[in-house]
Amino acid sequence: MTRPEMLNQLHSHTAEWDIIVVGGGATGVGVAIDAASRGYDTLLLEGSDFGKGTSSRSTKLVHGGVRYLEQGNVALVMEALKERGILRQNAPHLVSDLAFIVPNYDWWEAPFYGLGLKIYNILSGKYGFGPSKILSREETLQRLPTINPDGLRGGVVYYDGQFDDARLLINMVATAAEQGGTLINYCRVSGLTKDSDGLVNGVTTRDEESGHVFTATGKVVVNATGPFTDALRRLADPSVQPMIAPSQGVHLVFDRSFLPGSSAMMVPHTSDGRVMFAIPWHGRTLVGTTDTPIPEPTLEPSPMEEEIEFILETAGQYLHKAPSRSDVLSVFAGIRPLVRAANSSNTAALSRDHTIHIDASGLLNIAGGKWTTYRNMAEDCMDHAAVLGRLPESECVTKQINIHGFHAHAEKFGHLAVYGSDAPAIQELMRRRPELAQPLTGALPYVGAEVVWAVHHEMARTVEDVLCRRTRALFLNAKAAIEAAPKVASLMAHELEYDSSWESKQLAAFQRVAAHFSLGKEPAGSRGV
Ligand SMILES: Cc1cc2nc3c(=O)[nH]c(=O)nc-3n(C[C@H](O)[C@H](O)[C@H](O)COP(=O)(O)OP(=O)(O)OC[C@H]3O[C@@H](n4cnc5c(N)ncnc54)[C@H](O)[C@@H]3O)c2cc1C
Repeated sequence: MTRPEMLNQLHSHTAEWDIIVVGGGATGVGVAIDAASRGYDTLLLEGSDFGKGTSSRSTKLVHGGVRYLEQGNVALVMEALKERGILRQNAPHLVSDLAFIVPNYDWWEAPFYGLGLKIYNILSGKYGFGPSKILSREETLQRLPTINPDGLRGGVVYYDGQFDDARLLINMVATAAEQGGTLINYCRVSGLTKDSDGLVNGVTTRDEESGHVFTATGKVVVNATGPFTDALRRLADPSVQPMIAPSQGVHLVFDRSFLPGSSAMMVPHTSDGRVMFAIPWHGRTLVGTTDTPIPEPTLEPSPMEEEIEFILETAGQYLHKAPSRSDVLSVFAGIRPLVRAANSSNTAALSRDHTIHIDASGLLNIAGGKWTTYRNMAEDCMDHAAVLGRLPESECVTKQINIHGFHAHAEKFGHLAVYGSDAPAIQELMRRRPELAQPLTGALPYVGAEVVWAVHHEMARTVEDVLCRRTRALFLNAKAAIEAAPKVASLMAHELEYDSSWESKQLAAFQRVAAHFSLGKEPAGSRGV
């Protein structure tokens, strides 16, 4: 899977495509897997890197959404719980079970959450991850040794799934390519072409590397641009009413010592009525998130000072040792592509279901939903697309398709577990070229072989691609990622045969992105974002 190969496939394809998907996040790549595996000629164009948008910035949970159960949205929870089970079955190298503990400080919480979480598990049916259980104060302290003990009465444990979002996405791109799809990163769609009836029949796109502009025609064009859905719709019809209400969510990453052990903590009601998680992830502690309506989405969103303060404050209430700004290893923001509901000003109340909407221009839009439900969303989308594009009937088969890298016991590959069945090839690279077995930086486990692998097999084109989405360096430790960047640039330049000016430009670009993930010592205006 290389970008030049994908471009060759694109340029040698002179016929009309069955499906053109715009957007290479979980939604778009999910649609590409579904379409290609039904036998349709499939092209996906991503304007930046795969997963650059929301899909690398989630809470990393494969879950039914306990909160939606509380809101009474049983259908959404049941659908997500089923998809959670299918995803663990099809990508066990990237999805694992995790115990979540809801700490109880009030007398009514144990029976209330105990019952709710029992129902949560019942709704998962045969896809259950394990029964919930009420814990004593001692058991809760044993599982969450760093929890604030003042007034703690006990807890409730339940089970959900956890994953590596960007790694899953990269493996999904490979899966779609293996099914015959053509997927290209750094090809921004800048226009939509129309037939004589004024209906969308293709795209104009620009190869961001060569500057080459070209068009591709398709029987159906699917808009899977997440938070940017309305911008693409406006290319077909500038007068469309917006369908997206973007909402930002921020996470802070801390050292593992803030949450040792193997359980996560879930706070169902923060001071502003939201859910907050503290989760062990790749040897660090991930805490979030917020839900802040924003006027316009951007590709590199900045965490707001009040969001950072809110997370620090809430974490401080529940953890024995309150984390401070100087403990933050990384901070990242993502934008939820929530679908607008009439008369709703509160984003927490907006629909978390996915929406399929066909514009008068014939553009098929799919937005909303969750990472967890991407497969089901894609199935629904392609059922509609097949009718719209008069494509030959073909059944969805994605429940049975293993995601690239499938391996039932990937944990034996240590930190390379996320590569699943690709791990032995990376180990072989380390044996053949021992200099590639060296870590990129002391603070993270990543080695040079992963950079070389990402360049030749995972379509990594920039230092950011490698440090953000092929490895998760910038999400785990911004300072260490910045330290690793020159080594990554030099390895990539060697493999891609670029000169030193490419390296310098890459480093400067990476520094700009890394500033969004770094927290200054002082709050407000003083941060470099
Ligand atoms: C803070 C936060 C936490 C979350 N946590 C979870 C969780 O734990 N579990 C869960 O299941 N869900 C979670 N979600 C939801 C989930 O992450 C999103 O639903 C999902 O990632 C949306 O994917 P998407 O493909 O629709 O959008 P995106 O991932 O944003 O993808 C859209 C893509 O379109 C591209 N694009 C835009 N315009 C163009 C153009 N003109 N041409 C070409 N490409 C273009 C962008 O570059 C981008 O890559 C979370 C969301 C947020 C914000």
